[in-house]
Amino acid sequence: MKILFATSNQNKAAEVAKMLPEHFEILTLKDINHTDDIPETSGTIQENAMQKGNFILDNYKVNCFADDTGLEITALNGEPGVLSARYAGDQRSDEDNMALVQSRLENESDRSAQFRTVIALNIRGIQLVFEGIVKGNILKEGRGENGFGYDPIFEPESCGKSFAEMTMEEKNSYSHRARAFAKMIEYLNLLK
Ligand code: IMP
Repeated sequence: MKILFATSNQNKAAEVAKMLPEHFEILTLKDINHTDDIPETSGTIQENAMQKGNFILDNYKVNCFADDTGLEITALNGEPGVLSARYAGDQRSDEDNMALVQSRLENESDRSAQFRTVIALNIRGIQLVFEGIVKGNILKEGRGENGFGYDPIFEPESCGKSFAEMTMEEKNSYSHRARAFAKMIEYLNLLK
């Protein structure tokens, strides 16, 4: 069965393709020549994932899934959350975003946070959502060179390393995104 992943990120698609049962073939936005941004105008991570999935379904009438991720910091009432990519502005700079987080946490003793990924799966006329969460803390100073986004300042619980200090395999072994995808794949494995 062909299933479209609403992403143009070929690395993400390759990662998921590896986890999927053999009878599923992953397509991406590139395969259907969709080059425009997909609207993400909702107020929550879950609604954004659902909005992206429904956009693809409405326009292309194919089985599909879409993901959305945010960093939720307790002392900032869940910010940056749905604004994670452009917390410090439309330039979408990881450095600026991390600097803004640090300045807002300057006088806070609680540095706990979590990453949340939600996947919306549109298949056979229904929509299902799958969630993956990893809890941790925001480091006072960034550490490590790997990964992307907020990885240098996020240390998963009882880990002793930031995400940016891990190999991709290490990060994927318990990341928010891998957890959400594992749940979706468990469901897809049940379908014939
Ligand atoms: P997206 O929904 O996967 O595009 O993620 C939105 C934003 O959240 C990204 O632009 C990053 O700033 C942040 N983000 C998502 N996943 C991660 C991650 O695994 N590590 C660090 N930051 C992430």
